[in-house]
Amino acid sequence: MLTQEKITYKNSLEFAQQMDQKDPLKKFRDEFHIPLQKNGEPHVYLCGNSLGLQPKLTQTYIQQELDDWAKLGVEGHTEAKKPWMPYHEFLSESMAKIVGAKPSEVVVMNTLTTNLHLMMVSFYQPTPTRYKIVIEADAFPSDKYAVESQLKFHNIDPKDGLILWKPREGENLCRFEDLEQIVEDNRDKIALFMIGNTNYYSGQFYEMKKITELGHRNDIVVGFDLAHGAGNIQPNLHEVGADFAVWCTYKYLNSGPGSLGGCFVHERHAHNKELKRFVGWWGHNKDTRFNMRKEFDPIPGAEGWQLSNPPILSMAAIRSSLTVFDQAGFENIRKKAVLLTGYLEFLLDELQLEKINIITPRNPEERGCQLSIQVKNADKSLFTALTEKGVIADWREPDVIRVAPAPLYNSFEDVYKFVEILKSLC
Ligand SMILES: *Cc1c(COP(=O)(O)O)cnc(C)c1O
Repeated sequence: MLTQEKITYKNSLEFAQQMDQKDPLKKFRDEFHIPLQKNGEPHVYLCGNSLGLQPKLTQTYIQQELDDWAKLGVEGHTEAKKPWMPYHEFLSESMAKIVGAKPSEVVVMNTLTTNLHLMMVSFYQPTPTRYKIVIEADAFPSDKYAVESQLKFHNIDPKDGLILWKPREGENLCRFEDLEQIVEDNRDKIALFMIGNTNYYSGQFYEMKKITELGHRNDIVVGFDLAHGAGNIQPNLHEVGADFAVWCTYKYLNSGPGSLGGCFVHERHAHNKELKRFVGWWGHNKDTRFNMRKEFDPIPGAEGWQLSNPPILSMAAIRSSLTVFDQAGFENIRKKAVLLTGYLEFLLDELQLEKINIITPRNPEERGCQLSIQVKNADKSLFTALTEKGVIADWREPDVIRVAPAPLYNSFEDVYKFVEILKSLC
């Protein structure tokens, strides 16, 4: 539950600036590089759901690894200030906090879609009678492609094997009752729930615990894609009991374009050597990894799914970002997100424009910091005009602007300015 501060918002620049003054996280904005407009003013950057901004610390952390590589060459694996051999372990504790897991349940490796496939290799084991996969209708395209290709890999026609959890006619959000109905209608035929949480398009944060329990009651494996959840909402993966989850680190986790992804495997699977998987040497028992003639012996927990020795420069960026998250404290970040997103919602409502419709849930517990704003009859020219006025947001055809004030670096003033600019264009 969110303990929401009672706050009376006001529609003025002065109020926004007062909120910024009182913000316990205000100093963090200065710890990020905010992209500048041509006129030298900072952009109103509301696109942290697509690519998070760069923490200033990142350059120092990456430079450290470049220096160690220059000075030490291969010896850096053991002699670097942060030795490369166990480098991924330096990330586990902080990353575990971000997703509400135990450190042994998380590992940073590969990229999101790769991890999704690796997880499905292990956790999607269709039988002739139980083989269907449920995803939400507006799943991110990569997830849909990945799931369809897994079905085809097992010689299952996606038309038969893929079930879409859809919003009802005339609605934008998925209802839990409809997922229950899907389970009812496909009794003993569903093998996997693969749900993208928080939904990238609507910003809806599904009730993970209810979904997981529904799945498990019906012998369905439950996995989540937290690309839009990690660093945004608290998914509490361990407690929720999901079997696996995957996410990327370049959105709310501010770790740079294409940076490595995260992966969660619940501890109930940690020692199960029977679980099928695609493997590589980095997932092998650390004591005998370099004795390369042994049978594969997986490291217990999520680390056992690692394939390759990982890119240290990307991990350095993740370590820097997680340091900032640790300093700020995730609970504080979430608290500010609720206030900041609530302020954005309040100002949009104040516009009283019939053509503006927020499709993201109104309940703060059912969303993160993204609001998806439908502007009826608008086309991309509105978005282009916003960009010209210094707003960086995200446009989804046919008529939705997605804006995400990221609590670590966005201010109440950013939110105020965005709505003023939108108003001037509508
Ligand atoms: C951003 C995003 C991706 C991107 O996948 P990559 O493998 O990192 O390129 C996939 N799925 C979802 C839900 C996303 O939001």
